[in-house]
Amino acid sequence: MSKVRTRFAPSPTGYLHIGGLRTALYGFLYSKKYDGDFILRIEDTDTARYVDGSVQIIYDTMRDSGVMYDEGPDVGGNFGPYVQSERRDIYLEYAKKLVEAGGAYYCFCSHERIASLKDEEGNLRYDKHCLKLSKEEVESKIKAGEPYVIRQNVPLEGTGSYHDLVYGDISVDYKDIEDGILIKSDGMPTYNFANVVDDHLMGITHVIRGTEYLSSTPKYNLMYDAFGWERPVYIHLPPIMKDAQHKLSKRNGDASYEDFVNKGYVKEAIINYIALLGWSPKTNTEKMSLTDLIENFSLDGISKSPSIFDDVKCRWLSGEYIKEMSFEEYKSRAIGFLKNSKAYGKYDEDKLLSLAKGRIQIFSEIPEKIDFLEEFGDYDLSLFENQKQKASIELAKTILPEIKQTLSNVTDWNNSNLFGVLVELSSKLEIKKQALLWIARIAITGFESTAGGATEIADVLGKDETIRRIDVSIEKLNA
Ligand code: GLU
Repeated sequence: MSKVRTRFAPSPTGYLHIGGLRTALYGFLYSKKYDGDFILRIEDTDTARYVDGSVQIIYDTMRDSGVMYDEGPDVGGNFGPYVQSERRDIYLEYAKKLVEAGGAYYCFCSHERIASLKDEEGNLRYDKHCLKLSKEEVESKIKAGEPYVIRQNVPLEGTGSYHDLVYGDISVDYKDIEDGILIKSDGMPTYNFANVVDDHLMGITHVIRGTEYLSSTPKYNLMYDAFGWERPVYIHLPPIMKDAQHKLSKRNGDASYEDFVNKGYVKEAIINYIALLGWSPKTNTEKMSLTDLIENFSLDGISKSPSIFDDVKCRWLSGEYIKEMSFEEYKSRAIGFLKNSKAYGKYDEDKLLSLAKGRIQIFSEIPEKIDFLEEFGDYDLSLFENQKQKASIELAKTILPEIKQTLSNVTDWNNSNLFGVLVELSSKLEIKKQALLWIARIAITGFESTAGGATEIADVLGKDETIRRIDVSIEKLNA
């Protein structure tokens, strides 16, 4: 078998959305699994849809996510250029060859004539009018400078069939395919032509793309056959849905990879989750690094049915990655988000970050988890009442001065020392440690629920601030 070569062929029309990235990822995984090559090709022939800056977004996203290509516009390779607008002459040359082979023809019909062919519903079906022109007529029209397009010559009868590795055998009647334009009047190819020429010339063995191309593939096969080229293996992927009715798409303004990263999802989790959107591993675990994904990826795990993007699951995975991340790694990724917290700059950075780690799923949750540290204020004394923890206002009144006393004597202020002395105090006072810790936590935060227990929070607040807050609370209890 020849070396596996797959490609991702995005059109630069804006952010790289989740569906596009999944197509890229599957192409990447499949090629890497078989030690093949993964190619990036920019399909920019539709100038009307071109969005400035989007090529750079594609490069950045692929690098950043680790779905990196071996060949592409900015890295080079032996099959370039990898940008379609730079391959204009190549397409023209092959279009002419296709005309010679009978697979295409020149069409000089005016806009008016084309418009007159539309049926009641506005659908256009070209009537092969220019197919009748003789070679001489065509040549003289071209010489005279008449504008033209080149159209595919699709047989009027017969059926085009092929086997898709996901969807099985696909057949389309040629009578349902129109003689589409391959080369536009400005000399630029359409996607329908360029994808065939490029996939062949770039040695692509497996074409992986969205189901929207499932039914157009027979017309591409006609061209492969007319050129005498080997057809690639086809793998069409089901759409990703936002919900049962709506496709996830950038046209609907749905999230791109970049949006997810900006919202603080762990990159590895985004890629991990995207891999599972339409593919099921045979392993028991769903948390997989890129290396695990390469090892486990297989085409037979790809599903035919659309998958619904499950944000809850994606967040959960992100949280799992955060839990397992080394503190250094976590810090470098989380610090930008920490800066949005009120507590930032007031306390030790590492302690703030530790308080959040293990309690968040995405980095942007950091502020909401730790902002309470800066919101100590006029809380309700009833918070001390907690039957389950055996705590009460009365108990708080009696033990808070003891807690204060004990904490004042601590010289080495850290979570484990603080925890040790408070547990010791609770046995000395013969009360449940949960009750004591509950009271201490309410006294220093004023919140019923917080990230972290009393001593973890006291550690972050520091000795002076902790004692000051306990004083405030004692005063409040005695007022
Ligand atoms: N440029 C096409 C798109 O963005 C690529 C389709 C393909 O992979 O062949 O949809």
